Amino acid sequence: MRPQTGNIYLTALHALPVSSVRCPKCGRGELREVGENHYLCRYCGHEFYACPVCGEAFAHQRQLAAHTKKHRGVEERAIAKELGALRELLEELKALLEEVLAGQKVILAKLDELLEMQRRALALLSAKPAPAPAAEAAEPSDEELPDFVRDNPWLRVLGERGGG
Ligand SMILES: [Zn+2]
Ligand SMILES: [Zn+2]
Repeated sequence: MRPQTGNIYLTALHALPVSSVRCPKCGRGELREVGENHYLCRYCGHEFYACPVCGEAFAHQRQLAAHTKKHRGVEERAIAKELGALRELLEELKALLEEVLAGQKVILAKLDELLEMQRRALALLSAKPAPAPAAEAAEPSDEELPDFVRDNPWLRVLGERGGG
């Protein structure tokens, strides 16, 4: 009966083919699995434990357990390294995105300028020409006449006659 470790990592490792394990005594691969990572050589009858990762053989289970931990440490370091690389990549990506955003802000500011210029141009085009000063429309009142004319009744009479 195979003992259950409940360790997902070891369970996954155990899925490796038994053919990679060889008897440390006679070097043959004809083995009978009598337990988890526990083998009996069909040829010489040697009983041993073998690492499911590298196939290294051990006389005792605790030796194998200590050995397997080393593998796991290597695995964890490799994962940590991968995560570190991934983090660096994400930082680079973030920096790139920030650059892109800054560029977009500049472009948006320029577009705002263009829109403002266009608005001003449209305002100029649609503006009605200023009305020409209506010089002959209104009769000049006394206040609009020069002082010497305003105070001289004779000149006013002459002016009225000439006008019509
Ligand atoms: Zn053997
Ligand atoms: Zn190993």
